Amino acid sequence: MKLPAHVEYCIQTLEEAGFAAYAVGGCVRDFLLGLEPQDFDLCTAATPEKLQELFSDHSQVLAGVKHGTVGIVFHQEVVEITTFRAEGDYSDGRHPDWVAFVEDITSDLARRDFTVNAMAWSPSRGLVDPFGGEKDLKDRVLRAVGDPEQRFREDALRILRGARFAARYGLTPEAATLDAMLTLTPLMEELARERVFSELSKLLLHANAQQLLLFEPIITQVIPELKPAVGMDQHSVHHAFDLYTHIAHVVQAVPQELSLRWAALLHDVCKPAVFTLDDQGHGHFYDHAQVGGQLTEEILRRLKAPTALREQVTHLVQLHMHRFEPERRTLRRWASRLGFDTLYRLLTLQEGDMGSKGKPEDGFYFTQIRELIRELEQEAACLTLKDLAISGTDLLELGFPAGKELGDCLQQLLELVIAEVLPNDPQALAEEAAKLLPQ
Ligand code: ATP
Ligand code: MG
Repeated sequence: MKLPAHVEYCIQTLEEAGFAAYAVGGCVRDFLLGLEPQDFDLCTAATPEKLQELFSDHSQVLAGVKHGTVGIVFHQEVVEITTFRAEGDYSDGRHPDWVAFVEDITSDLARRDFTVNAMAWSPSRGLVDPFGGEKDLKDRVLRAVGDPEQRFREDALRILRGARFAARYGLTPEAATLDAMLTLTPLMEELARERVFSELSKLLLHANAQQLLLFEPIITQVIPELKPAVGMDQHSVHHAFDLYTHIAHVVQAVPQELSLRWAALLHDVCKPAVFTLDDQGHGHFYDHAQVGGQLTEEILRRLKAPTALREQVTHLVQLHMHRFEPERRTLRRWASRLGFDTLYRLLTLQEGDMGSKGKPEDGFYFTQIRELIRELEQEAACLTLKDLAISGTDLLELGFPAGKELGDCLQQLLELVIAEVLPNDPQALAEEAAKLLPQ
């Protein structure tokens, strides 16, 4: 394993002072998988006080010092070094009753969640792997360290982390681990919503349809609104799958981008609520996109998703059934309303939706629409007030009165330019303003 120079320097400094020190956790796992580790966490027998003393010529981050973590600052990077820790029981399901600094690495590795995350490595001491993490990685197995049920009872976030690691690295949970993950899902109710959102987001980014089906009880525990979709027959000639299976395929079909993956997960969340069956036995889902947008908004609020993501996903869900006319003017209006990025995302979502019904697809219009949008983008067409060749200040200088009417006037000018009724030209716009606004 090749460590960056500053990480190796930390290990060497500790070893020279007589303290065992290792790279640990995610970086060892990623290295053994042949992936570039994202960050390097270290652990050591040295106490936090000793760490502060040994690295006193570096800036330090001491926010985690109570839990044994000292951050050592190197240029832009911080290396987190944590004293070997053993933990007591978790009577509250979130925090250990006691934490003790210990001298041997094995008890530190024993408190970690999964075997593949419970390995340490150092240049002089090699790999420390008391729970068989290396073999599990090779066999692509996700296995809790110790008794799975106890470990998930200690900290229910590990259930979501497990699903996330399984998806990210293509691991299959071994039977007892999977069983505990799926039966202890109600314990996740106690977790902080932000943490749930963050883990679920990572799961969504990496999961394929099969994994979303396997982990359905975990996902529907966090988002019970999706439960009625599980196994739901859509009574539609267009759909071969039950609703949840369709949703899982749409998530897999869209690129690994957070707003798209969330929109795919929630795009049909309202279908069960608005379902009706006609005389011929065909299912209908009137208004499911619009109603689904409202529910999406509520769900993402509850999960404390960042505002920008919540708004984007809500928009995508609301509009996922909209069929665009392959016509420049209409598309320009949409580009003005949504922006090009959202417009492209919406098309990508629609395409994923169309392609995930398990039935051969009628030739659709995506290529044509995309081409038209690309043309509009290249033309750098006037789409927002910012692009308009005349500004509020210009109108004031021309003697128009300040006030709400001025804003309305600018908006109307923009509409006229988007509709290609007026050119985006200061002279033409000023003349039109004179007609719209009494001076
Ligand atoms: P990532 O690539 O997402 O950073 P990671 O394995 O490094 O993955 P972190 O959340 O950074 O995950 O945690 C670092 C290490 O700390 C893990 O590898 C694991 O050994 C341990 N760990 C983290 N969270 C828990 C937890 N909830 N329960 C037990 N051990 C944990
Ligand atoms: Mg990490």
